[in-house]
Amino acid sequence: MTHHLLSGPEHDPARDAGHENPPPRVGFFTDTSVCIGCKACEVACKEWNAIPEDGLTFTGMSYDNTLGLGASTWRHVAFIEQSVPTSDGRTELPLVSGGGTSASGGELRWLMSSDVCKHCTHAACLDVCPTGSLFRTEFGTVVVQDDICNGCGYCVPACPYGVIEQRPSDGRAFKCTMCYDRLGAGLEPACAKACPTESIQFGELEELRERAALRVDQLHKEGVTEARLYGHDPQDGVGGDGAFFLLLDEPEVYGLPPDPVVTTRDLPVMWRHAATAALSLVGGFALSFALTGLAARTGRTRTGRTLTGRKGRT
Ligand code: SF4
Ligand code: SF4
Repeated sequence: MTHHLLSGPEHDPARDAGHENPPPRVGFFTDTSVCIGCKACEVACKEWNAIPEDGLTFTGMSYDNTLGLGASTWRHVAFIEQSVPTSDGRTELPLVSGGGTSASGGELRWLMSSDVCKHCTHAACLDVCPTGSLFRTEFGTVVVQDDICNGCGYCVPACPYGVIEQRPSDGRAFKCTMCYDRLGAGLEPACAKACPTESIQFGELEELRERAALRVDQLHKEGVTEARLYGHDPQDGVGGDGAFFLLLDEPEVYGLPPDPVVTTRDLPVMWRHAATAALSLVGGFALSFALTGLAARTGRTRTGRTLTGRKGRT
């Protein structure tokens, strides 16, 4: 009998979920420093998983057609156009200076990043699901089964990253499965397979974390001091992500929460407080009934004595 943890470091979430002798946990390391924004991952995901069309609209946000992850967008390539501050701290508009590198050193920078479900170590979406539609696989990933989902929507606000979403047509929730069917067949996920620059790397999570640390060291040595990892730390608020990233700016720039915390972390404390409140209420009722009964009995006794006393005097 295993004890399921809701927060804190968790070495083996698959075993924690009840899988006996699970294979090593797998995940994604997305190195955004080599993403070229080709969207091959988005297309491969759609093709393999037969996901419906999710927006061929002009959003006004560079080449971004979908703006974020959703029920029909399991991979989302963000395009962020930035003006890098000049050496004197000012920010120049690249179009005014002709685009590209300006005379005073201000540059146009294009950040691209392929976002996905984080396959959290502590996945609140899974913890709040009342039907068992969301479950932890033997690979340590988090999968939602659309044929079991009843459309209650509890998982949607539970996700600290805003990943999972209900499809408006029928209310069922969808998100990346890390291609569970392909993993079962010994294949890598479709998006990682399609990525031409190896920005999306798939493999055993421990090995990916080591590889990512080396890549950050390498970039720092090459002068890219802003390179940093996101979601790699098992000590963070979700116990570390199964899909983590190398970013070139603050997480907020990519639309990622800076300090995500599993939303079910405080459930045990809340239940303890609720139980204490319920016990106090029951105790209060019992005490008030007891006191009322005692008062009534005392009153009856006094009345009886008084009547008896009067009778005695006449
Ligand atoms: S990122 Fe959101 S949807 Fe994905 S496993 Fe974590 S809580 Fe669930
Ligand atoms: S792992 Fe599979 S389901 Fe998830 S984003 Fe990649 S292709 Fe889509």
